Amino acid sequence: MEKYIGIAEQNGAEQALVISPEDIFFDRRVILKCRWGCEDQSDPNRIKCGSRGLDFETARATVREYETILLIHHHDRVKLSQTARKIERAAFLDGHYLASALHCCNLCKSCSIDAGKPCPTPLRVRPCDQSFGVDVYKTARRLGLPCKPLQSETETQNRYAFVLIG
Ligand code: SF4
Repeated sequence: MEKYIGIAEQNGAEQALVISPEDIFFDRRVILKCRWGCEDQSDPNRIKCGSRGLDFETARATVREYETILLIHHHDRVKLSQTARKIERAAFLDGHYLASALHCCNLCKSCSIDAGKPCPTPLRVRPCDQSFGVDVYKTARRLGLPCKPLQSETETQNRYAFVLIG
C-alpha cells in the first residue's frame, strides 16, 4: 500500500489512509440527500449520478467484500478524482484486478454533462460514494479527519475518495 499512498502524496493529497470496510459508515439518508438535495440531480439518470440499479444493500455489501481500502483526503476535487483513478489503475496493473475507485466524478475541471452535453469519457466515470449511501462526514470524522458543511465558497474544501483495492 506504500506505493499507492506515495501516488496520493505525489498528487497533492493531504492524507491517504489504509482503512477497512468497517471504517466506512453507510446510511440510507445519504441517498435521500443525494437524490433530492444535490444540485447535480436535475436528471437522476446522469452518468455520474445514477446508481445503475445497484440498491443500497447491494452497494454496501459490495464495498464490504473488499478487505483493503485507501481513503484519500484532498483539498482539490479535480485532483482528488484524478488521483483516485491513477491509484485504481496502478492497483489493477499490480494484479488487484477488482480495484475500483469510489468518488464523485470531478475528473474534468468543467464537466460536460453539467453543461448539458454528453460525457466524453464515460468509461472513466466511477460510482459516487453518496449514491452508494456512504456517510462521508461520519466516516471522515471517526478517523479524525476534517469534514463539515462549508459556510462559503472561500473556505478550504475537504474532499474524500475511496479506492477499493482488493
Ligand atoms: S465530463 Fe468529466 S467530470 Fe463530467 S462525468 Fe464525464 S469524466 Fe466526469
